Amino acid sequence: MITTKGYAAQSPETDLAPWSFERRDVGEHDVQFDIMYCGVCHSDLHQIKNDWFPGIFPMVPGHEIVGKVAAVGAHVKKYKVGDLVGVGCLVDSCRTCENCQEGLEQYCLNGNSQTYNGLEQDKKTPTYGGYSNTIVVHEDFVLSISDKLHLAAVAPLLCAGITTYSPLKYWKVGKGHKLAVVGLGGLGHMAVKFGVAFGAEVTVLSTSPEKEQDAKKLGAHKFVVTKDEQQFKAAMGSFDFILDTASAKHNINDYLGLLRTNGVMICVGAPSEPSPISAFAIIGGRKSLAGSGIGGLPETQEMLDYCAEHNIVSDIEMIDIKDITGAYERMLKGDVKYRFVIDMATL
Ligand code: NAP
Ligand code: ZN
Ligand code: ZN
Repeated sequence: MITTKGYAAQSPETDLAPWSFERRDVGEHDVQFDIMYCGVCHSDLHQIKNDWFPGIFPMVPGHEIVGKVAAVGAHVKKYKVGDLVGVGCLVDSCRTCENCQEGLEQYCLNGNSQTYNGLEQDKKTPTYGGYSNTIVVHEDFVLSISDKLHLAAVAPLLCAGITTYSPLKYWKVGKGHKLAVVGLGGLGHMAVKFGVAFGAEVTVLSTSPEKEQDAKKLGAHKFVVTKDEQQFKAAMGSFDFILDTASAKHNINDYLGLLRTNGVMICVGAPSEPSPISAFAIIGGRKSLAGSGIGGLPETQEMLDYCAEHNIVSDIEMIDIKDITGAYERMLKGDVKYRFVIDMATL
C-alpha cells in the first residue's frame, strides 16, 4: 500500500485537517501520479457538509486533479513517468453498460466510481480525492494534459470545464444563439469562455453587480443583475439557452421566463434544496428544462485538447491548503475569482 498525505473532513461538523491514509499499490493497468494542483469545486463543500446525501467519512475531497506521472503498471500503454496528467470526477465505472460503451461513464447504469465520497467497483473500498499528495488510477480514467497551458489553471477544467463544455456541445450552442449563464463562479466563468469560443452571444445573469467588469473581461457581451427587477424584466423572452450554474436555491420559474419560444434551460448547478416548477413556466413557449452531469472520458479529453488548441484555462486564485476553510467561506458568499486552486506543495 502507498501511504498518502491528505486533508480530510472527519465528519460534516469538522473543518478539513491533515490526515494520512493508504492507496492501493500500482496495479498492471494503473497510473500513479504526484498531485501538483487541485481545484476547489462547490461540490466539495456540498459533499463535506452532507448537503446532498450522507457522505463517506473521513472524506478527502478534490476532483480537479493535475500532476506528473510517478509510476506506471506493467501493462500501461498510454502514459509514462514524467507525463502531465489529470483526473476529474470519475476513477472507474462498470465499462459494460450501454452508457459506458458510448463513453458516457458519468451516466453509468451500474454506478460509476466517483473520485471521492464514492466506492471503487468492488462496491466496498472508499475513494479519496485530490486534496492529497499522490493518487493511483486505472489508465482508462487518466487524462492527458498539454504542456502548452498553465498547469494550475488547467486543474479546474477537469470538473468546471467539462461540466459546462458538455451541455454546450450536446445542445450545439454556437453562432446565432443567445446564451445566458446563471452565476459567475467556477462553472459560470468557464461557461462564458466556452460560449464565447463557440460563437454565441453570452449574457451573464448574476446576483453580484460588482462582477460586471470581470464578466466583460471574460468575454461576456451583456450582464444582467438578477436582483434588479427592471433589468430582469428587460431580459424576458430573450435567450435560446440558459445554463444554470447557481449553487443555492433560486426560483427556476422566473428564469424560465427569460427563454424565447422553444428555448432550453439546462441545470448544472446542484442546490441542496429542490425548486418547485410550474408547468405553465414551460407550457407557454414550448420550453424545455434539462440537466447535465460532468462529462465522459472521451469528451473530457476532447475538451482538454480543445482548450490547449484555443488557449483556454480557468482564472484562478492559488491557495495554501491550510487556507481551505477560508476559501470555502468565500465560496459560500459567491466571492470566488473564479476558481480556487490548491498548490499541493503546501501540503
Ligand atoms: P461557485 O464557484 O460557488 O459558483 C456558484 C455561483 O452561483 C456563485 O458565484 C453565484 O454567482 C451564484 N449563486 C450562488 N447562490 C445563488 C442563488 N441563491 N441564486 C442565484 N445564483 C446564485 O460554484 P461552482 O463550483 O461553480 O458550482 C456551482 C454548482 O454546480 C454547485 O452546486 C456544484 O455542486 C454544481 N456542480 C454540478 C456539476 C454537474 O455535473 N452538474 C459539476 C460540478 C459542480 P453570482 O455571484 O454571479 O450570482
Ligand atoms: Zn466539481
Ligand atoms: Zn456502466
